Amino acid sequence: MDSVAVVGAGPIGLKVASLLAKHGWEVNVLEEHSQIGIPENCSGLISLSGIKELGMDVKDVTVNKIYGAEIVSPSGEKLVVERKEAVAVVIDRAAFDRMLYKEALKSGASIEFNSKFIDLRTQSLFLKKENRGELRKVKIVVGADGVYSKVREVAGINISKKYFVHSYQERVEGSFNKKKVYVYLGSFARNFFAWIIPENDHIARAGIATSFGENPSKAFERFKEKFAFEFDTIEKQSFAIPIGPPIKDPVVDKILLVGDAAFHVKATTGGGIIMGLSAAEKCAKAIEEHFKYGTELKNYSKLLKPIIKELVLHWKIRRYLNSLDDSRLDKLLIRLKKAGIEEFLVEHGDMDKPSRFLGKLLKKPKFWRFLPLFLRLSIK
Ligand SMILES: Cc1cc2nc3c(=O)[nH]c(=O)nc-3n(C[C@H](O)[C@H](O)[C@H](O)COP(=O)(O)OP(=O)(O)OC[C@H]3O[C@@H](n4cnc5c(N)ncnc54)[C@H](O)[C@@H]3O)c2cc1C
Repeated sequence: MDSVAVVGAGPIGLKVASLLAKHGWEVNVLEEHSQIGIPENCSGLISLSGIKELGMDVKDVTVNKIYGAEIVSPSGEKLVVERKEAVAVVIDRAAFDRMLYKEALKSGASIEFNSKFIDLRTQSLFLKKENRGELRKVKIVVGADGVYSKVREVAGINISKKYFVHSYQERVEGSFNKKKVYVYLGSFARNFFAWIIPENDHIARAGIATSFGENPSKAFERFKEKFAFEFDTIEKQSFAIPIGPPIKDPVVDKILLVGDAAFHVKATTGGGIIMGLSAAEKCAKAIEEHFKYGTELKNYSKLLKPIIKELVLHWKIRRYLNSLDDSRLDKLLIRLKKAGIEEFLVEHGDMDKPSRFLGKLLKKPKFWRFLPLFLRLSIK
């Protein structure tokens, strides 16, 4: 009997598998595709602070270093934040996933390709393998099967469409400042934004995401037209991003959800790699303690608390931004700029953990005029 079946060989499932296998537990990863990292649906921007906290080395998969960001309002007002030191890196996402795959294999996990999770009844897992049905006995199932998680559905957790956006991204040729990422806010990207993330001075990942039901590739055209961008397309991709609050209780009987499947994604930006990997550590710890000491699997929810606190804050910021029309977005950026937000973020900004800088912001009198907003975010 397999001790743990991890559904999904994305970065988060592979991390859970690695950590468990390293401690000697039997882990089997089921992946519906035939390769790791394909199809690639990501811009690959991750914070260096997050990578450091996870104790990872991403030098071999880094394609660019990022020193700052420009946030552009609908009418073209800009917030510019740039540091002397790099704050983030752009990774080759497929190579990153392959790196985690090698780690998982080295730790002793087994990974089965062309194996699609279909259902789970008591402790029998049903999968489609090479077009044939198969039943497996399992003790614990980890749902790391991404945004459209089948495991989440089988666990009885249904999520409203309003908590997803639909993205469209192109890898493009043009002229870019490779030190900065660019974020464009406005109604052309309803409930999200458009972005340019450079790989170097002449290649970037440019994309947009909008509410479900809208056509993101058309929105991308509108965005390019508005800002008079001309790019040559190298590759295209389209995929959903979860931008709702994290799932309150990601443990249902013997099922644990993690990563995109559990909405361990920053709703402000759609970034899910760092938060998902941090959650993967908690997931593996909860399972390990369950096997070793008989601790309840529900302990996972407790271990997740510090991550959930940040994710809820991201979600509240997203909800607030989504409530603003173009003119209010313009006004907000102008007011923040006047109050000195750029200098503040250069010193205190944190891509992953807003609680770290929002608390400090409250202590500065020049930001007290934003008190109603802080109260809305319930920052203590
Ligand atoms: C356009 C775009 C840009 C992004 N940019 C960034 C970024 O810059 N930085 C960042 O941090 N995050 C970014 N993200 C988010 C990031 O890609 C995800 O948060 C991350 O991939 C989540 O990892 P995961 O392992 O949870 O899920 P996934 O990477 O989606 O992996 C899930 C795996 O499960 C497999 N699977 C699914 N269903 C089944 C099944 N039934 N049976 C077996 N296998 C199954 C899939 O094939 C896949 O391999 C972006 C996302 C998008 C769409």
